[in-house]
Amino acid sequence: MTHLSVDIGGRPGIDCRGFCEYCYFKHVKETAPFGCRYCPPYKKGCDYCSRSVREYYQGFKELRTIADDVLARLQVIPDEVSRITISGGGDPSCYPCFTDLVELLSSMEAPLHIGYTSGKGFDDPGVARFLIDSGLSEISFTVFSVQPGLRKRYMHDPTPEASLAVLETFCGEIDVYAACVVLPGVNDGPVLEETCQWLEDRGARGIILMRFANRTDQGLILGNAPVIPGQQVQEVEEFRDMVTDLSRRFRIKISGTPLWDPRIGSPFALSKEPDLLKKLPRLERKASVITGRIAAPCIREILSSRGRGARVVPVEKDIACLITIDDLLRLDPTSLDPLVIIPGRAFVYDREAEEVLSRDGVARTVMRGPDALTADAETSMGMTRNEVLALEMDTFRDLILQINRYGST
Ligand code: SF4
Repeated sequence: MTHLSVDIGGRPGIDCRGFCEYCYFKHVKETAPFGCRYCPPYKKGCDYCSRSVREYYQGFKELRTIADDVLARLQVIPDEVSRITISGGGDPSCYPCFTDLVELLSSMEAPLHIGYTSGKGFDDPGVARFLIDSGLSEISFTVFSVQPGLRKRYMHDPTPEASLAVLETFCGEIDVYAACVVLPGVNDGPVLEETCQWLEDRGARGIILMRFANRTDQGLILGNAPVIPGQQVQEVEEFRDMVTDLSRRFRIKISGTPLWDPRIGSPFALSKEPDLLKKLPRLERKASVITGRIAAPCIREILSSRGRGARVVPVEKDIACLITIDDLLRLDPTSLDPLVIIPGRAFVYDREAEEVLSRDGVARTVMRGPDALTADAETSMGMTRNEVLALEMDTFRDLILQINRYGST
């Protein structure tokens, strides 16, 4: 069974009827490539860290191009297509030939998923019935608020009533995962409660709340901070407590990113499972493990339960996957072990990291750890607790084995 992903291209903010006020792509500048896990050893900068990370597309692809691409891929797929996901830098609801595209894909008779839509392109409530009849079975839909006026003002949705009517029909018939960037003072508090209630009453599967970031250390690494000058931002703990409180008061699954999924206890649900922790290998060698501010205490707790070999070092950034060379430059290399493990997805060029972290004259080896050590709310939304725990057991086992193999004695 194969999962077919159909990329329609498009540019954030441009191919979705203009920038939402909170869109992280709004002020993205032409920064030099960061370097990343995909860069070849001889060159800093590859397609991923110079283009894809900015979702730097040319515009929507022609329907013809998409059709040819799908056809070519179908010819090399050995078995049946089990699901089709439509994704891209632009918003599928704004794709000019959207109905033709859906008709084309529905002819494959596999369940159709829309990976992300703001719904801003849905001007006719009737499109919901067409999509369901064409096989749409799951959608991730950015709601922001169920008050049409707020959608209009902050998302620049020209037809918010129609978009919400489409969402309402979807909620009653297919799997809807709603998403909501929380702007304190705008769509939090009673406005957010109204949104949660609306989605619960209509049958959505879940809602992912996204903490709004407005500073580089909160994760805006593309020269785009602040996204909204003067906008109030929640501290991580405050945001986590809001998610906890809402999830207690509603039946619908409510989780947050970067923290947290209260029903599963993730990220790092493993830290609260002493019996599982005992099944991880013991740490036999030493290494420094660099990570972000949010993950550091949890990673430290898990690794320290398996021995004393790992020194967990947080940088001044909330999210580990968004670490750049500037964060490493702020670390004191003398406090680091001969082996330094950085997050697998950090936006750093490996050779440059080694130079920076050896600038005190002591040669250190820099290696990338697993791509992710846990599941964030977007990943855990469709997972069970046991699936998340199994994933964390695998990733921490890999990390410990890496330290035991390459670390110092
Ligand atoms: S719809 Fe999404 S990509 Fe487009 S402007 Fe809004 S937040 Fe950005």
